[in-house]
Amino acid sequence: MNIDEEAEELASALGRDAEEIKAELEDLLAYSVPIEEAKQSIRRKYTDTGAAPPESKNIAAITMSDSSVNVTARVLTAGKRRIQYQGDEQVIIEGRLADETSDISYTAWEDFGFTAGDSITVGNAGVREWEDNPELNLNQSSSVMLEDDPVDVPYNIGGESDIVDLQPGNRGRIIAGRILEAQNRTIDGRDGETMIRSGVIGDESGRLPFTDWQARERIAEGRSVRFEDVYIREFRGVPQINLSEFTAVESLDRDVAVNDEPERMSIDDAITAGGAFDIEIVGNVLEIREGSGLIERCPECGRVLQNSECRAHGPVDGEDDMRVKAIVDDGTGAVTAILDRSLTSTLYGGSMEEAKSAARDAMDKAVVADTIRERVVGREYCLRGNISVDEYGASAEAKEFSPTEGTADERAAQLIEEVRAWVV
Ligand SMILES: [Zn+2]
Repeated sequence: MNIDEEAEELASALGRDAEEIKAELEDLLAYSVPIEEAKQSIRRKYTDTGAAPPESKNIAAITMSDSSVNVTARVLTAGKRRIQYQGDEQVIIEGRLADETSDISYTAWEDFGFTAGDSITVGNAGVREWEDNPELNLNQSSSVMLEDDPVDVPYNIGGESDIVDLQPGNRGRIIAGRILEAQNRTIDGRDGETMIRSGVIGDESGRLPFTDWQARERIAEGRSVRFEDVYIREFRGVPQINLSEFTAVESLDRDVAVNDEPERMSIDDAITAGGAFDIEIVGNVLEIREGSGLIERCPECGRVLQNSECRAHGPVDGEDDMRVKAIVDDGTGAVTAILDRSLTSTLYGGSMEEAKSAARDAMDKAVVADTIRERVVGREYCLRGNISVDEYGASAEAKEFSPTEGTADERAAQLIEEVRAWVV
C-alpha cells in the first residue's frame, strides 16, 4: 500500500480531507515514525481530543452528546453570584439564553461584558449536564461577540417575573412586591456567625419567603420594593428568593397590591410538590402526638427537653412552653401539624398559667394534652401554614388553626332550623 492509499483510507475513516491527512502522515514518516504508529497517532488526534471545531447549532438541537457548540442567541437573564469553586471565591454569571427555537441555561465563569437583552454569538461554549438538561459553559476557551441585529425570541427578556412564576434554579430575576414580614437572624454560616434578613414578600400573584444575605435594614415590613438580580433556591420544598451583594434594592413610591389569600390544597398535592408555602388544608385530627401540651425547652437552643435534658446541651433549667403535634388527615394524605403556644392555648381554652395550675392540681402534666385530645380528635379543622417534607415525613407549621363550621350533617341541620324559623 502506498502513502496515497494509506492517507485516503485514514481520511475517509476520520471524515477528514485526504490531502490534509497525507501531509500529516508524511511529516511523521519524515521523522522516522513507523507507518502504523503514525496512523495511530493521527487517529488519536482526531478522535480522542475532539480537535474537530465546534458546530454552530440552534438551541433546540443542542444535546448532552455535544461537547461544545457555537450559538447565536439573546441573553434573557444574567444573574451575578459569588461562589466557592475548588477552594477559591469566584464571581460567576448565570441565566438563560434563547434563540427562536428554544432556550437554555448557561454559566459564564468570567465576565464577558454582556447583559440581559444583548444579542451575542458564543464560540466554543462547553456543553454539560445540569439537572437532566444540557447547559452551556462559557469559560476561558470560549469567545463572546456582541451582535448588532437583535435575535428575535418568543420569550420574556430581562427577567421581570411575577412571584407565583418563580422556580428553583431561576437566576437574574427582577421582582416588585410588598414586604409582609422581615426580621434579622443570626446563622452559623461558612464564615462563622452571619447576620441575615429574612421574611415574606408578596405581589398580586402570590407570596414567597426571601433571604437577604446582606441583611439590609431598609427591607422593612410594609415597604414596597423592587429587587433586581435575585436567584431562587429550594428551601424545605418551597422556592426561596435570595438577595446577594449584587442584588439592587430600590424602594418604590407606589404600594404594590398583594394577593393575601392562601391557596387551598390537598395534602397529597402539597406532599407531591415536595412542600408548599402559606397554603390552606382542611382535614380531620386523627391523633394528638406525644410531646404535646405542656413542654419544656432548652434556654440555649429552644429544643424540647426529654426528662429535663437537651439533646445538645445536656441537663438544663428548662423554660415552660406549650405546643401541639397533631396528625391531620384530609383523605388524600396526612401531615403532622405543629401548633405554637398561642394556637395551643386557644385549642386548650386557657392560658399557659392556667394549664400549669391544672397540671399542679392533677400532679400530672399530661392532663393538658388530654384535655386538648378530648376536644379536637375526630373534628375537622382548617389549617393555614407551610408544609415541608423531610425524611421523617410531612409536617405543617400552622399559622392559623380553626374548626370548620361543623360537619356536613350539622350544617344541614342548622340550615333546616333557619328555614323553619322563617316559615313559623
Ligand atoms: Zn439545647
